[in-house]
Amino acid sequence: MQTPDIHDLLKTRFGYDEFRPLQAEIIRTVLDGRDALVLMPTGGGKSLCYQLPALCLDGLTLVVSPLIALMKDQVDALRANGVAAAFVNSTVPPREIRSAYSAARMGQVKILYIAPERLPAPSFNEFLRSVRVSQIAIDEAHCISEWGHDFRPDYRNLHVLRQRFPETPVMALTATATAHVRDDIVEQLAIPNARRFVASFDRQNLTYIVRPKRGAFEELLALLRQHANGSAIVYCLSRQDTEDLASDLTDEGIQALPYHAGLDPRVRRTTQDRFIRDDVSVVTATIAFGMGIDKPDIRLVVHYRLPKTLEGYYQETGRAGRDGLPSTCVLFFGASDRHALAGFIERMENEPERVRARQKLQQMVRYGQLQTCRRAYLLDYFGEPYDQADCGGCDVCLSEREEFDATEIAQKILSAIIRTGERFGTAHVLRVLRGSRARRVLEAGHDRLSVHGIARGHDRVDLYEIVSLLENAGLIRHSGDRYRSLTVTHEGRDFLRQRQPLTLTRVKPDEVDSPPPQPGVDHLDFDRDLFARLRDLRFRLAQARNVPPYVIFGDRSLQEMSHYLPQSRGSFSNISGVGRVKLNEFADDFLAVIRDYAEPLGLEERPRTRGRTHRDRATRRPGSTYRQTLDLLLSGLSISEISQRRQLTDATIMSHLERLIASGETLPLERELPPQERLTRIEQAFADAKSWNLTPARELLGDDFSYEELRLVRAWLDQQGRMKGQDSDRNAEPPPL
Ligand code: ADP
Ligand code: ZN
Repeated sequence: MQTPDIHDLLKTRFGYDEFRPLQAEIIRTVLDGRDALVLMPTGGGKSLCYQLPALCLDGLTLVVSPLIALMKDQVDALRANGVAAAFVNSTVPPREIRSAYSAARMGQVKILYIAPERLPAPSFNEFLRSVRVSQIAIDEAHCISEWGHDFRPDYRNLHVLRQRFPETPVMALTATATAHVRDDIVEQLAIPNARRFVASFDRQNLTYIVRPKRGAFEELLALLRQHANGSAIVYCLSRQDTEDLASDLTDEGIQALPYHAGLDPRVRRTTQDRFIRDDVSVVTATIAFGMGIDKPDIRLVVHYRLPKTLEGYYQETGRAGRDGLPSTCVLFFGASDRHALAGFIERMENEPERVRARQKLQQMVRYGQLQTCRRAYLLDYFGEPYDQADCGGCDVCLSEREEFDATEIAQKILSAIIRTGERFGTAHVLRVLRGSRARRVLEAGHDRLSVHGIARGHDRVDLYEIVSLLENAGLIRHSGDRYRSLTVTHEGRDFLRQRQPLTLTRVKPDEVDSPPPQPGVDHLDFDRDLFARLRDLRFRLAQARNVPPYVIFGDRSLQEMSHYLPQSRGSFSNISGVGRVKLNEFADDFLAVIRDYAEPLGLEERPRTRGRTHRDRATRRPGSTYRQTLDLLLSGLSISEISQRRQLTDATIMSHLERLIASGETLPLERELPPQERLTRIEQAFADAKSWNLTPARELLGDDFSYEELRLVRAWLDQQGRMKGQDSDRNAEPPPL
């Protein structure tokens, strides 16, 4: 079988220029007929991993998914890209089910979504006997495991598919899986040889910010106003809170709707629907909100209350920025929430559960108190080491920090902990240090200790902060019991005994109360007014078609339009998200709005410096996959040596090089180039084809030339700046006639 150029399909069918990490490798694995287990965080781009191969394979792709509410949107999104898709679940009338089956049988449907409860149905099994299935995708694959958090007995019927189609590649996908669940998925699905793909759980486009609870409402208003052109979720603790907050916000002129499990299901559905359709941009919600929505353009997730666990926090913040655009996650953190939750936990009946809940809360509280990178803490918690000094995307890393000599104060704090018998929490130890005569201090006789009052001049809040820094530094520890008493670790004792100096780093004190820092993620500098107009147009087109707006175009597409101001169909087709079908369907409408806006202002189309503007961050980040490739290349390794060393395909390494070039690196590619005569022919072929797509140039050149060779030459030409003057996006289609 001739392997189709999956890069070309990515642009022509989905409108995207580049694969996200691992997507290309996963797609090749299915196309090679192998099973795959795919672990990617929310927003990692899992769907594309089976949707793109579905277009290359001859028969039908079956997608099993438990999220019935999402099927229609997914199918709408595929159809908007001209991909024949359908879905079958309990909400679909029998007659439509029959016609979906017969369309699939005749090859008129390439991708069929199916709910797991359909598996045992006789009509479905009859259908399976009459159709050629070339790929099976199992979405939310953790549902098959009793060890997971969302076990669904229906998923156990999946082995039926495996038995019926033993030769068909199976792809299991999930965003949540511990090693245990991972193994269970592979075993239950009987895919022991599945290649495992584990993407990084680092959501680079999310900025994590913690703010004091004091003054939270005013700050929330400011945040929502800043994000007025996008959607936001505000998580609250109780049902009552969601309603109160929604009405307070509405009083301030920000339309917000509450969402919680106590509302009538019809109201809930309408709220969710209005949110997905951009009809309301702010929802104040309990954690009941979010499971069933796949909205890619949520720009802000606020935790107005403290979450109970880091797992919950990561999942809820993970709903922001699925489309990869910069998005913000703000946690308002204060002692009162923490006490409320702790009180709630102490009332739990079941002892082991209580102990566990207490520990989870403590980990969450530590996150709130961190003086070190929040991203590093989160990733470390989920078992992914992160060793960069500065993530550029959390309030700690974004704030100015200072080093200070903490030797003396640390000695005092540690001594006070030891002298009071390592049986008291922070509040008590600090009282003793500051010379308090509170009843508990006197009753314990701690006013008679030599440490009583030795830190009298220090601010209480500063001392709390230093305690948390000492904990981060490993010198002290909180016990796991309900009193959270402070104890001194081995390292702490060594520090005291050896009288070592200690330098700590903290956020500059005068920075602490300044407004939240801006996300540190590179993004396009686009025209906000034009963006708002395009958003309006998108909204109207979506309403007319009865689909969510993001099905028409994502925010990235609109941002690019508002930046590049394309004036022709040719340049419109260069916008991310514009494939062949959307070009035909929507170019005229969007071009008209852009022209109407740009003309009176005398604004001209901006030339494209391919991707240079907004995808730089990953290539610059030390230790990133791109950097690793770059370092090996600079150390003199060839492309194939690098791919061997890194256990990646040549194509992936090639895509790294392209991206590095796009971000302005100059690479020593000369030694990889073909001889001059071939080089000239390839260059000529691109010119003759009037396109930087590989396929047309290769057709002109013939089988004697490989795609890899063409791709390399294209990258080199790009680097030489010779692409200027031609239709400059490498994935551009030739301008339509
Ligand atoms: P997941 O299922 O892993 O949460 P999705 O499949 O919903 O993620 O993808 C998240 C978003 O990213 C979607 O809006 C999707 O269209 C977009 N996306 C996927 N792959 C790419 C890509 N290669 N380039 C740009 N956007 C992509
Ligand atoms: Zn950080």
